Amino acid sequence: MLPWLGSTVAAAPLALRTLAYTSSWVAHSLIVQMLVWGVLTVYNRNGLSKKNTREPALPVSRMLLADVFGYYSWMIGAGLVQAWYNPTMDSWGFEFPFTKLLWYQLPIIMAYDTWFFFVHRYAHINKWLFRHVHAMHHRNDAYLNVTSNSFEHPIDGLMVVGIPVGFVALLGCHIGNFWTLFVPMHTIACIFVFGHSGYDLALDEWHHVALLAINPMLLIQLVTANAAVPMDHEDHHTNPRVNFSLFFTFWDDLFDCSHPKRAPFTFLLWFVSLFFFVPLSLYYEWIWFGPASFFAALVLHIFTPLPNAVYKLLGGVVSRTVSRLPIWDWMRRDLLLTYAEPGQPGAFDADPSRRYIFCYQPMGVQARGAYYTFAGKGRRSPVSKLHDVKLAAGRVLWGTPIVQQLLALYDCCDTSYATLSALLTDKELS
Ligand SMILES: [Zn+2]
Ligand SMILES: [Zn+2]
Repeated sequence: MLPWLGSTVAAAPLALRTLAYTSSWVAHSLIVQMLVWGVLTVYNRNGLSKKNTREPALPVSRMLLADVFGYYSWMIGAGLVQAWYNPTMDSWGFEFPFTKLLWYQLPIIMAYDTWFFFVHRYAHINKWLFRHVHAMHHRNDAYLNVTSNSFEHPIDGLMVVGIPVGFVALLGCHIGNFWTLFVPMHTIACIFVFGHSGYDLALDEWHHVALLAINPMLLIQLVTANAAVPMDHEDHHTNPRVNFSLFFTFWDDLFDCSHPKRAPFTFLLWFVSLFFFVPLSLYYEWIWFGPASFFAALVLHIFTPLPNAVYKLLGGVVSRTVSRLPIWDWMRRDLLLTYAEPGQPGAFDADPSRRYIFCYQPMGVQARGAYYTFAGKGRRSPVSKLHDVKLAAGRVLWGTPIVQQLLALYDCCDTSYATLSALLTDKELS
């Protein structure tokens, strides 16, 4: 943003001011777009990335038009808030207090990613909304090209990005810092362009290094090992049932719609991350005082996966201990489950050469075997001798933070169709 623009525009009516500020953000985004385009061209020339087969059928002029009305419509959010709350640039500082700004960025990108996931997913679930609004973005001939980078309905742009960006702008106006808005705006623009570039990016890891230069707070993505990469969004266009989020994969992981599937521990890492950073940023102002305290906190954070490793190492011991807890006996009695020793009447007659998946549904026990397995592991359960027994947990239970991790430690899996069919058809296991 150009500081000298402020006083000139401030005298104009709100609509004109909004137009001016929105246009200046559009110009910003165009610069990012051109830079990314240049980088991709260089990489493509050197054979480091490959262009996907789908070529846009629309002429470049039409795509640029769609850019102006669709993709750039989300910048109205920033333009409007800025025109309303900060018509001159006088109260908007240009200094870049790195550590302090970093703490603002985390809640911003976390909240923004959450908003994006749910609104975007709803735009797919709600048939009316999809047909009249979001389908435009999914038109096969219109995406995956740097010139078209997003091609969306203006309402889509406002819903998915305009509103959250407006809130970020509001925050920026209140704390009087230009970079609060600048950093997320450019990060989002950069991700959108990469995500719709149509390139299969062998440089996905490098892409993060480049993004870190714009928004160092994306370090959290690398630390929690759940960064969404441009190919994830490309996958969303190939299969609109997967990868709804933008920065992270944790919401997709949680709702079982990420592709490719990630290890469940990434969610735990995210969870730990959130509970590590947020209280610190809200209550412990000392962390902002200097780079030393910030980097100390960061190093501590990097080591938070350690408890998870300890869990894994102790997995066998922990699971044996928990299996022997009397609570399982109480539960069997409470739920009127019967338990018969192998060979006794009513005992489960399992064939050791076959594989079993015992399902537990949180709304009611549908398979007694599940409890047999769970309670009987290491206690001469009728299924303890089977060479591969999986306890499948219901979705609600599986999706619950921490519980999911504990279940995974017990070799449980989720009851999704994909997981169960993958297990049943896995040749190596059978
Ligand atoms: Zn898209
Ligand atoms: Zn979509």
